[in-house]
Amino acid sequence: MAKTKYIYAFGKGIAEGDGTMKELLGGKGAGLAEMTKIGLPVPAGFTITTEVCDLYYKNGKKWPEGLEAEVAKNLKALEKNVGKKLGDPVDPLLVSVRSGAALSMPGMMETILNLGLTDTSVEGIAKKTGNRRFALDAYRRFIMMYGSIAMDIDRAKFDAAFDDLKERKTRRRLSVPNGTKVLDIAVNEDELSELITTFKALYKKEIKKDFPQDPIEQLKGAINAVFGSWMADKAVNYRKIEKIQGIKGTAVNVVQMVFGNKGETSGTGVCFTRDPNSGDNVFYGDYLVNAQGEDVVAGIRTPIKLSDFEKKDPKAYKQLCDVRKTLEKHYKDMQDLEFTVEEGKLYMLQCRTGKRSPMAAFKVAVDMVGEKLITKEDAIMRIKTTDIEGIFYPMIDKSQAAQLKSAFLVQGIDAVPGAAAGKVVFNAKIAEDMAAKGEKVIIVRKETSPEDVGGMHAAQGVLTATGGKTSHAAVVARGWGKCCIVGCEKLDIDYEKKLFRVGSVTVREGDFITLDGSSGNVYVGALKLVKPEPPEAYKALMSWVDQTRTLKVRTNADTPYDAENARRLGAEGIGLTRTEHMFFDSEERILAIRQMIIADDVESRKKALAKLLPFQTKDFEGIFKAMDGCPVTIRLIDPPLHEFVPHDEAGQRALAKAANVTFEHVRQRVEQLHEANPMLGHRGCRLCITFPEILDMQVTAIISAAINMTKKGVKVLPEIMIPLTIDEKEFQILEVQARGIADKLIKDSGLKLSYMVGTMIEVPRAALLADKIAEHAQFFSCGTNDLTQMTLGISRDDAGKFLPDYVDEKKAGVFKADPFQSLDQKGVGMLVQMAIQKGRSVRKDLKVGICGEHGGDLNSVKFCHRIGMNYVSSSPFRVPVSRLAAAQAVIEDKIAAKKAPAKKAVAKKPAAKAKAVAEKKAKPAAKKAVAKKAVAKKAVPAKRARPRSPSKHNV
Ligand code: ADP
Ligand code: MG
Ligand code: MG
Repeated sequence: MAKTKYIYAFGKGIAEGDGTMKELLGGKGAGLAEMTKIGLPVPAGFTITTEVCDLYYKNGKKWPEGLEAEVAKNLKALEKNVGKKLGDPVDPLLVSVRSGAALSMPGMMETILNLGLTDTSVEGIAKKTGNRRFALDAYRRFIMMYGSIAMDIDRAKFDAAFDDLKERKTRRRLSVPNGTKVLDIAVNEDELSELITTFKALYKKEIKKDFPQDPIEQLKGAINAVFGSWMADKAVNYRKIEKIQGIKGTAVNVVQMVFGNKGETSGTGVCFTRDPNSGDNVFYGDYLVNAQGEDVVAGIRTPIKLSDFEKKDPKAYKQLCDVRKTLEKHYKDMQDLEFTVEEGKLYMLQCRTGKRSPMAAFKVAVDMVGEKLITKEDAIMRIKTTDIEGIFYPMIDKSQAAQLKSAFLVQGIDAVPGAAAGKVVFNAKIAEDMAAKGEKVIIVRKETSPEDVGGMHAAQGVLTATGGKTSHAAVVARGWGKCCIVGCEKLDIDYEKKLFRVGSVTVREGDFITLDGSSGNVYVGALKLVKPEPPEAYKALMSWVDQTRTLKVRTNADTPYDAENARRLGAEGIGLTRTEHMFFDSEERILAIRQMIIADDVESRKKALAKLLPFQTKDFEGIFKAMDGCPVTIRLIDPPLHEFVPHDEAGQRALAKAANVTFEHVRQRVEQLHEANPMLGHRGCRLCITFPEILDMQVTAIISAAINMTKKGVKVLPEIMIPLTIDEKEFQILEVQARGIADKLIKDSGLKLSYMVGTMIEVPRAALLADKIAEHAQFFSCGTNDLTQMTLGISRDDAGKFLPDYVDEKKAGVFKADPFQSLDQKGVGMLVQMAIQKGRSVRKDLKVGICGEHGGDLNSVKFCHRIGMNYVSSSPFRVPVSRLAAAQAVIEDKIAAKKAPAKKAVAKKPAAKAKAVAEKKAKPAAKKAVAKKAVAKKAVPAKRARPRSPSKHNV
């Protein structure tokens, strides 16, 4: 067996890896290889794979065998390639040692620059470049980075020494007035020399060894430091929050240094090929003259905009514009770039798919279809659930003009749009704690660091005093679509006293503020927020979504208001109206239902129900009207009756008085209703089996409302749904009763009105007997909330104590996701699939949908498509997510169909011999069986793709 390849080299237009190898080379390594391959100016280097990092940890933090030799070999090749040697006293090679995992983890991992500098090589560089200040500047950076990152010396100690030097020497020499910052570029050669001596002394004091003068020792130390950063607390924590699992580790990129700190014609920058906030097709970024690496992001000086870069150095800017064009064409997506200009020449140091705001996600995708870079299907596949959620960002209600004026405090840089209001918090931990208690908080920091991500995640919004649009705070918040304002320099934050000042105004921890991330404005107090209209690109893309999908999307709605709202969001009907929610609407209604419940005999029960009838009829009229032309599924009463009665004495006394019965009577009835296990008790259709008059009333209300609205010209498609069915006989009793009432009402009205009667499939027994039930039921609606509870034997209300352990990969890891949020496809999904197959085996046009929480979950909806459901039903605000999921499922089917034959052909090769032998041995009959099986297997996807046959209402 060939030895595993640990390292992939790149340089001068040739690369061993390429852009597809993210998993192995990390995002950065793959990007560097790809850019090299397509002829962009990338300094040469090599990438140690993520597998090596994995081996390093498996090996007790030691290098795997053979790595040392491979590093030496690649270093030699690199030296040859660039014509310089690491540690050379005359013209030394310097390298950066950079982390880079398969998925971007902004700011989490470490990079060391200027490696290879020693007391002798620094003089070589000084002479060779004729720029001693530059050489010393690079050296002091290296000692600091190596000392803090590789050797764990507190970085603040280096910073303090630098500040001390600036104060003692530079400020005096240049007479910089107090109160004005002494810039790092103002420090001169002598001062840098002194700083280096101080830094080396600091190193020796902390490590008890001299700063290493052997570049190979430096290189090994730096590589280990990058490996080490993979398991640093902040990185582990970040992966947990972002649910990043199953990637091996970080790659290590060793890259020849290029220098942005060589003077006025050099510099370093970061940019996006399009505006990551609006998505507009404009070049967007920051550039810092005479600077190196992290200076831009760290906010040491304020960077200039790209337009000013163009003015300052048009030639270098032109090179960057060419790269922008090439890369967008090549990757067919918006890119996030890091670059350095060394004495007028551009070098590319990183490229990756750019993170963008939800608004930009739609804009870029739709624009790129227009530019013929991608297809509509590509565009649909690029949108994420969070993009849709983010489109409905809250905004400040502009009708509060007076408050907007009086509450205005200060303006910062508008980093991420949307608005947020909450209590000011200065500490990430406190932010998390308060948010856990349900409080809305805004985290306010001088700047954020990776340690703060937990608090940022918990907060409504983020406000910082420093940094630009590409600062840590901005990048992280943008990924979450979280409102963020940065670089608000007038904020004078006092962490100790837990307050900030802006001029004469003081805001303390716990005070409310409001952020407008779209303008950068900060307001005191909590302003009213509203939800905006979705942008044009959203509408365009969602229209493609609707053209693509075959699965219908309905909504769960109990009121005309919800129904209208959901229709605006694209719902094509109601999959679930919970009638019982209407009972709580007014005192009169709740009294009537309670009277019904405490009634002793049928007559008084009927009397109470008669009071409810007009209310229910009216409610249904409103819903039918809102859903004109769309099907509406109405579920008969479902919860156990005890949920409707008062459990405290005062409430029971009041009810007794209002219902004109004794308190003792009420108390007794309530006691009788008590159940040890109500979710498995007297509820669902069992109520109508015991009290048929409830069904009479509800069906009367539904059909009367349908008749009334039909008379008004509304197209009504009612579907009466019986909950918690467990048996065909049970269903049949209720169906016959419902039809008796409905048919008579319709006949009396003289109208033509069709309706359906169907059932929920939410008890495992119903799924098992689905073929029997389907003989009578016209539709199935899978109630996967109850079905999940009963199939797993896990009560949703009690699951909090142990279910997290079942989902946690580090503990039991039984489920990939919470089965109440994302359908357990393996278990519950199998029951659902079986119910559909059995049901359709007796009723070809059986209409099937889902109405649990899962109808709004991306992966669950895709599953529903694959098993041939007709529709999913989700809460109004999830409707767009369900539409997207349904379209993506169709496209994924297509991709899978295209891939399948190709995959087979590939798979044949290695297995061909074994297979040929096996076939020779096999008897002819067995062969036939195999062939038959293959045909049957093939037929399945075709059948699945078109399982629908038009039913009466054709969902
Ligand atoms: P991160 O993953 O945090 O972005 P990088 O490895 O990209 O870390 O390094 C950060 C910055 O350091 C780069 O954006 C670049 O400015 C600088 N840098 C890294 N390698 C080099 C190099 N070989 N030459 C010049 N600058 C470099
Ligand atoms: Mg980078
Ligand atoms: Mg249920």
